[in-house]
Amino acid sequence: MEKLAINGGFPVRSGKLEYGRQWVIEEDIAEVAQVLRGDFITCGAKVDEAERTIESVTGAKHAVVVSNGTAALHCAMIAAGVGPGDEVITTPLTFAASANCALYCGARPVFADVDRDTYNIDPEDIERKITVHTKAVVAVDFTGQAVKHKEIREICDRHHLIFVEDAAHAIGTTYNGRPIGSLADMTTFSFHPVKTVTSGEGGAITTDDDELYRKLVLAHTHGITKDPQLMEEPEHEGPWYYEQLSLGYNYRMTDFQAALLCSQLKRLSSFKERRQEIVRKYDRAFSDLDGIIVQKEIPESDTCRHLYIIRLDLSGLTCTRRQFFDAMAAENIQPQIHYVPVYWFPYYQHLGYEKGLCPVAEEIYAGIMSIPLYPKMTDQDVDDVIHAVRKVVSNYRKGGPLPGTDDERR
Ligand SMILES: *Cc1c(COP(=O)(O)O)cnc(C)c1O
Repeated sequence: MEKLAINGGFPVRSGKLEYGRQWVIEEDIAEVAQVLRGDFITCGAKVDEAERTIESVTGAKHAVVVSNGTAALHCAMIAAGVGPGDEVITTPLTFAASANCALYCGARPVFADVDRDTYNIDPEDIERKITVHTKAVVAVDFTGQAVKHKEIREICDRHHLIFVEDAAHAIGTTYNGRPIGSLADMTTFSFHPVKTVTSGEGGAITTDDDELYRKLVLAHTHGITKDPQLMEEPEHEGPWYYEQLSLGYNYRMTDFQAALLCSQLKRLSSFKERRQEIVRKYDRAFSDLDGIIVQKEIPESDTCRHLYIIRLDLSGLTCTRRQFFDAMAAENIQPQIHYVPVYWFPYYQHLGYEKGLCPVAEEIYAGIMSIPLYPKMTDQDVDDVIHAVRKVVSNYRKGGPLPGTDDERR
């Protein structure tokens, strides 16, 4: 059996492999540089082009690009009319922003548990958590897999709730052939560098609803408009005149970020193809591996996977999750954990949320680990990750070392 690097053996590779990273090429850089040489580095034509591109990628009627995915969620909450006294149902297995956006508006996040196999929010638990105060659902396409749209849509319609989809992980994914971004009442995206396409920092909201769109546009730029169609007193005094119609923020994206985004979106389908290829390789390598449970997918989702998560079956291993994590890092495969249940954070604990709220999410959290997944990975990188997982499993398997070839490679 190969000796683990953490115990003094040779690591699987010499350079560190992160769990995710951007892929910026010379064409992207040239597009950004061109904007920087021009007259408008913000509020110019590239933002408009990015919005039209996102509309065509998602099939949504309207898109608004914003400064980041968190701002996108905040704008969606504002447009949904979420306010003090309201409740917003979301998942605990997500980045904190999916719940924080309700708090920004004075509302209370309510956590619904996740499905044991897909790790996505469980529609039945959404229904159980609905009260007279519930205003919206923020459903997260965790790791990029589409949530159960049919079920969530039906629940939201029956209870008159606004369905917001946090698709920070899911640009490029389709549900029953329809792109994410065209299905929920509003869908939010993030273009942070670890996400599938990047603008440095950036985000977007899509919707088919004209009224929600009008509110989103106002929310992301101070509530201010110069559009005569929207102004209350269009018979104004002069060309300097504009109106503030609501309380908004400055959540605008700059034009050089939008240029990077447009350039990156041209490669979305090749990014998706490569991500899917790596996921298939991992699935093949891990689905029959003792000690490892792979994430399941619903057949409706054709997923552009953002994260690849292995779940440790700790009953079959002699190590803790922490030991597995450290052993992987020592092999120079840097894992990450997505995510600590949101309501476990001190801020949420101080607000009165108690541990144990979503038992399935907590059980899943205890065993999960994200391993590297990004399109720039080479086939050798992918093989190194598989090698490292097998090597660590082999060392910690209760049933003894794995039979197989790659254990004898060194
Ligand atoms: C990244 C992320 C966000 C926030 O996006 P930012 O662009 O970093 O503000 C929101 N929700 C989820 C699920 C995310 O992964």
